Amino acid sequence: MGRNEVTGGEKTVRPKSIRKEDEFHLQITWEDGHESSYNTAALRRACPCAGCVDEWSGEAILDPLAVLDSVKPVRVEPVGHYAIRIVWDDGHDSGIYTFENLRSLCPCADCSRRRG
Ligand SMILES: [Zn+2]
Ligand SMILES: [Zn+2]
Repeated sequence: MGRNEVTGGEKTVRPKSIRKEDEFHLQITWEDGHESSYNTAALRRACPCAGCVDEWSGEAILDPLAVLDSVKPVRVEPVGHYAIRIVWDDGHDSGIYTFENLRSLCPCADCSRRRG
C-alpha cells in the first residue's frame, strides 16, 4: 500500500464531508465511511506549508507553543482534487493539506494502532 509519492493511478481516499464538529474539532467523513475528528490546534500545528516545515529537511520551523489551543479554522477551501486549504483565525492561510496527509493524521484509535 501507500508510498509517499502520489502517482496518477493511485487511489486516494477523499473526504465526503468536512464539517465543524464543535469549537475545537473538525470532522471529516471519508468516502470509505471512516470518520476522523481532528483537534483544530493539532491540525494547525501539523501545517505542512513552507513557513511551518522546512521544505528540504522536513524539520518543523513552527513553534507548537506559538499556536494557541483556541485557534480555529475560518474557512476550508478545496485545492484541486487532492487537497484542502485551511484558513486559520490567526491569519495563517498557506497550509495545503493533502487528503493523504489528512488521513495519515487521523487521531482515532484504529489509525493510531495501524501507524504503530
Ligand atoms: Zn503553515
Ligand atoms: Zn482513523
